[in-house]
Amino acid sequence: MSFEHYDDPTHPSMTTERPLAHRLVVATLVFCLAFTFATVSVRTWFAWNNGVQTMTSELGLIDQVFQGSLSKAIWEMDRDSLEAQLQSVVQAAPVGRVTLRIPRPERAEEVLVRQRDGFLGTGPAPSLERALTIAPYPGAVQPVGTLLIEGDPGLLRQRLWKEVWTIMLTQVIQALALAGITMLMFNGLVTVHVRHIAQHLERLTPANLAERLRLDRLGSRNDELDLLTERINGLQDNMAQYLALQREAEVALAASRDHLALEVEQRTAELVSANEQLQNLSRLDPLTGLANRRYFDELKDAEFNRALRSGRPLTVLMCDVDFFKRYNDTHGHGGGDRCLQEVASTMQSLFMRSGEVIARLGGEEFAVLLPGHDANLARQAGERLRQALAAKRMPHGASPISPYLTVSIGIAELDPSAMTIFDQLLHRADEALYRAKNGGRNQVCE
Ligand code: GH3
Ligand code: MG
Ligand code: MG
Repeated sequence: MSFEHYDDPTHPSMTTERPLAHRLVVATLVFCLAFTFATVSVRTWFAWNNGVQTMTSELGLIDQVFQGSLSKAIWEMDRDSLEAQLQSVVQAAPVGRVTLRIPRPERAEEVLVRQRDGFLGTGPAPSLERALTIAPYPGAVQPVGTLLIEGDPGLLRQRLWKEVWTIMLTQVIQALALAGITMLMFNGLVTVHVRHIAQHLERLTPANLAERLRLDRLGSRNDELDLLTERINGLQDNMAQYLALQREAEVALAASRDHLALEVEQRTAELVSANEQLQNLSRLDPLTGLANRRYFDELKDAEFNRALRSGRPLTVLMCDVDFFKRYNDTHGHGGGDRCLQEVASTMQSLFMRSGEVIARLGGEEFAVLLPGHDANLARQAGERLRQALAAKRMPHGASPISPYLTVSIGIAELDPSAMTIFDQLLHRADEALYRAKNGGRNQVCE
């Protein structure tokens, strides 16, 4: 099991780190600026209406202040007072231009206009027109002129700009403050803990899974961070449990592996020994314990080739019990078997040197490989065998040549110049045996 360090500070991904708080701040700022734009538009519209209204009521106030005295000055034809009052009106802050029309009998009306420096027209500013009257005596109303007061649009704009600036400033400060507080809150409430969780996970190894994740917060908040902490601790518990089980399983597996290895070793040893036994069984003649024909065939070529290579002599001795069929008939098959065992053990006691192979070729026929023996030595050996069996005086109740068991022996020596395969040598020995049989049996022939 491997633990990878996803939060490695040297990891390339960390160099392009983009804190969540920054993105939150950018999002907040974008939202606040869009909202500020909308708010400023709406509030500007209200401020404009408000400004127009304020100017209208200011003009109304001026009108109320001056209408009486102006009417009186016109009625009394007091030019100085009229001039002074018109000057006062035009100097009042919201006024851009004041126009006084005085009708004159049988003459064109007199128009007195006073305006502020730089006044270019009312434009969107409000204006107020007032018919000036006087009551010379109670109950009589005499019109004396018309007063037109026009607002100063420059002042209106100036006031509006001031208002707009204030609105914009407060909105921008509010947006910045909101973004700042969002970042601080987010940092304090989330970022710090997320980083702590990342560090905790980075330190985690299979050895310290029991180390609990704890966030440095006041009490339990039951929020997403608490949920995450709980899940991480749960995951660690599960992993620790899983690792413990895995360790147990590994130990058990190792034990059973050792056991299995031991078992295999034992079984292999048993198999080897069984195989050896089987091989021996398949190579040995069960009745006499001598090599059987199969094993003899395995060995003969090796001996034959060794003799050819070394140039040492090699002879084959073939031995056949005389009138064995009759022996069986007289002494029974069991007796025949015992007789064969006796012949075999006699041969074993005579041919014990290394390389000498005695085999039962079949029935009552035996062969002996005699490495290092030339025909002469082999003949002597054959003679010793014939005499050893004769000396045992094993009764043969049906032999026409002797009251005891006899054998005929044929021998042949390897002739390297004439023989290329072993069977030629064996055939030669068989011919010698045939001659021994024909020669009256109980003899050794070459
Ligand atoms: P010869 O002198 O010419 O060799 O005559 P023989 O009777 O010995 O030869 P023959 O080949 O006619 O007979 C061999 C007999 O050997 C026949 C068979 O019943 C007997 N025989 C072969 N194998 C066994 C055996 O394993 N046990 C016993 N008891 N008899 C066997
Ligand atoms: Mg025989
Ligand atoms: Mg025979």
